[in-house]
Amino acid sequence: MTAAFRLSGPRPPEGAVRQEDLRDLNLKVVFQHILDAGRPISRTELATATGLTRPTITRIAEELLAGRLITEKGVTHNGRAGRPRVGLTLSDRGPAGLGLDIRADGLAACVVDLTGTVRHLTFAPMPPTGRDAEAVLGSLIRMGCEAIEAVTAKELTVVTATLAVPGPVDGGVVRIAPALGWRDVDAGTFLADLGVPCVVDNEANLAALGELYAGDDPLGSFLYVSGGLGIGAGIVLNGSLMRGARGWSGELGHVTVEPEGAACACGSRGCLETYASTGAILGALRGAPDRTDARDSAVPGEAGDAFERINPDSVITSRAEAADPAALVALDRAGSALGIALSGAVNVLDIDSVLLGGSFALLSSWLTDPVRAEIDRRVLTASWSPVTIRPTLLGPDAAVIGAALTSIDQIRRRPTTWLARQS
Ligand SMILES: [Zn+2]
Repeated sequence: MTAAFRLSGPRPPEGAVRQEDLRDLNLKVVFQHILDAGRPISRTELATATGLTRPTITRIAEELLAGRLITEKGVTHNGRAGRPRVGLTLSDRGPAGLGLDIRADGLAACVVDLTGTVRHLTFAPMPPTGRDAEAVLGSLIRMGCEAIEAVTAKELTVVTATLAVPGPVDGGVVRIAPALGWRDVDAGTFLADLGVPCVVDNEANLAALGELYAGDDPLGSFLYVSGGLGIGAGIVLNGSLMRGARGWSGELGHVTVEPEGAACACGSRGCLETYASTGAILGALRGAPDRTDARDSAVPGEAGDAFERINPDSVITSRAEAADPAALVALDRAGSALGIALSGAVNVLDIDSVLLGGSFALLSSWLTDPVRAEIDRRVLTASWSPVTIRPTLLGPDAAVIGAALTSIDQIRRRPTTWLARQS
């Protein structure tokens, strides 16, 4: 008896391809070639590369030039005799993407143009009222409006804004962000005052995309893990972000490291966050004698200091740099717990690189060795293919740059949508 396997997945389009679909497809193909070239490319080269006729290339080039997606720049030589040709390349005076980020230590805004170049980057401290949602989002709107105004003067048009938040997001609603004390905050609706469409996304996912765009391997696979008041991860497999069934993947902070461990804010016990969040590391230092003379090494909470007024990362790093025994023990414990949680993810996902972001990037000098020891011990294939562990390329700006690049990526993928809006 033979079983019939039912094929699923997208069906091929029925009937003839419509003329306008074909025009859109050709435009996308030409634009993708210009995007991938990484240098000015001539109309003749485009005709050869795409198999389209020269008149078709000329028409599409005119359309892309009129829509400010490309510009004419320099000359190209094809290596043979003949006159040099004008090259076509991505425009740095067309559409742009805005990124906004809420960090443990403040707020950030960033604009990138179509070429992926950062054209504007600003930071601001948390509002005096702390992490109150209305105050934080109000400050971000002001920063976003200032960014839009600044780049409009440079002939750029901000198309979309993307906000990075430290927690799972459902539509524009931040379901829970323990680091901010937020629950069910409709950030998307609030940010409508920016005057451009706004997307809200998880900070670790956006930072992972930032690292993917910034790296030189567009088909890379890695796990980005961000430390801070909470711990999140962004999973990139073969160049694509793996969001999960509901977009909530990467909650590495709530992976169990010790089943009977300390109670976690999530209701479980022994989660990674109870060992390796900045709060957990500071908690281990609290009460331990400070063996350093650093003025800012007081642990928040010890003398009633407001958490907002002290940067927790600088407290930990200053004590670790002074070789304070309590700090070194706390970081070794945090690194081991992180390594145990990461080993599970690496075993399941077959990922060869772990990027340490957020606070983990700043603390990587102390965390890398214990993380590596646990991974080498627990990942089945580690002896054949060692896992790379390194700090992120973009450092603490990964999420805000990733957010801005995500905003502009929509134009890169769907240039016809932008062109339709221009006509
Ligand atoms: Zn938990």
